[in-house]
Amino acid sequence: MKKIFLCFLSLIFAFSLCGCKKKDNLADLSVGLTNYSIDIKLNVQEKSAKVLQVVDYVNNTDAILKTIKFHLYPQYFEQGATDHVVSSTKLNQAYPNGMSYANFEIDRVVVQNEDKPVVYSGEHESILDVTLNLSLIPQDRVEIMIEYHFTLPNCEHRFGYGDNTINLANFYPILCVYENGSFNEAGYNPNGDPFYSEMANYSVNITVPNQYVVASTGDKMSENSIGENKVVSYKANLVRDFALVVSDKFEIKSEQVADTTIIYYCYDDPHSNQSLKAGVDAIKTFSNLFGSFPYKTFSIVKTDFVHGGMEYPNLIMISDQIDTLDDYLNVIVHETAHQWWYAMVGNDEIKYPWLDEALTEYSSILFYDYNEGYNFTHGQMVNACKENYTLFVSIYNDVLGNIDTSMRASDQYSTEPEYTYCTYVKGVLMYDSLYNLVGEKKFVQSLKKYFENNKFKNTTPENLIMAFEEINDGDYHNFFSSWIDGKVVIR
Ligand SMILES: [Zn+2]
Repeated sequence: MKKIFLCFLSLIFAFSLCGCKKKDNLADLSVGLTNYSIDIKLNVQEKSAKVLQVVDYVNNTDAILKTIKFHLYPQYFEQGATDHVVSSTKLNQAYPNGMSYANFEIDRVVVQNEDKPVVYSGEHESILDVTLNLSLIPQDRVEIMIEYHFTLPNCEHRFGYGDNTINLANFYPILCVYENGSFNEAGYNPNGDPFYSEMANYSVNITVPNQYVVASTGDKMSENSIGENKVVSYKANLVRDFALVVSDKFEIKSEQVADTTIIYYCYDDPHSNQSLKAGVDAIKTFSNLFGSFPYKTFSIVKTDFVHGGMEYPNLIMISDQIDTLDDYLNVIVHETAHQWWYAMVGNDEIKYPWLDEALTEYSSILFYDYNEGYNFTHGQMVNACKENYTLFVSIYNDVLGNIDTSMRASDQYSTEPEYTYCTYVKGVLMYDSLYNLVGEKKFVQSLKKYFENNKFKNTTPENLIMAFEEINDGDYHNFFSSWIDGKVVIR
């Protein structure tokens, strides 16, 4: 995600070679993963939907499972839970027409033809517990059918709608990650992107009126009109989430980069060519720096959105509330970098928000070293981060007497500015210190190694440290821990 208020502080500023290596064959790599089939009937007048979802779940854990758990993120948009969706300072931006709430209900759960009771658990009933008919051994699979319906809130966020777009992200029951003997049930919090998921395959159909345009994760397979409506079908192999944006205002521009079609969906953008170019330049630059982009479609989507932007696999949301063109282009670059750090190399975004977010932010700073014609430079952006970070620390010290500057889990920050400065801004300074320590060549080689070793998986900080140690010889644990634990003094 890109925090838009950073743009107001001028912190956010905004090799055209394709990967020479053979591209990953997504179909081959997706064998043995869980498959989601999702059929959405969207009512654009009522902003509601009925959904039939079939999950062909593969037990890729090493445990025998009797229950499987799904996150139900829309529950956090319901009345009584909305303080978890956005910080209090962003309420007016997220809800410009006043508070509005979602309704989300599971109608039916069927496990291999046997009806099951609908069992909610967790904070705000945000977890669906599905008890299996028989214990599921590792590598075995089970089919789970879930029928549900929801009404979207009038909220300019991941799950909601504004005047221009209907944002369907984090709208469906998604599997909790199983690790260390249990399912990770960590829920929503307003700091950052509170998500953690694993690679899966998706087949998604959405029914919308003919005049609406759909932007989506994955590749469009077909679009068939039936009377006033059309059914648009998508397929996505080897992605960790699936998001769609629907609008009757979208104009479309596209450009081909190697095997990838880059599509820009927008409204009211007099600079649409520049916006598309920023996405094209970013895909080329990061493919060259870190490793090739193996998907056939990448969609950049202008949306009603409270923060600067938001990343999903193959799709990024860019807010229509961004003030300047430079910042708008920079958000496109930032969210595109997330295709490498989040979408392909994933991590627990609650526990280690800096792992993907700071690396994404620093990657977007590196972008300007290789692309002329943008109004930002690497040095200028790092200096701005340093100035703003030291100002932030001194203000918080004056007000609170002291400040915890450790880079911690996103739900461990008491305010959004603390989260943002410790994760994004301090994170940039950490990576820039490392860049200066090992030099540009070894720094880029280390990130290439980190990507190659961990693409399509989930990582921990240890994986990142190992990549730097592989390339640079030496122990980098002390370097990272001094920054993460808050011991480094920044002047
Ligand atoms: Zn981000």
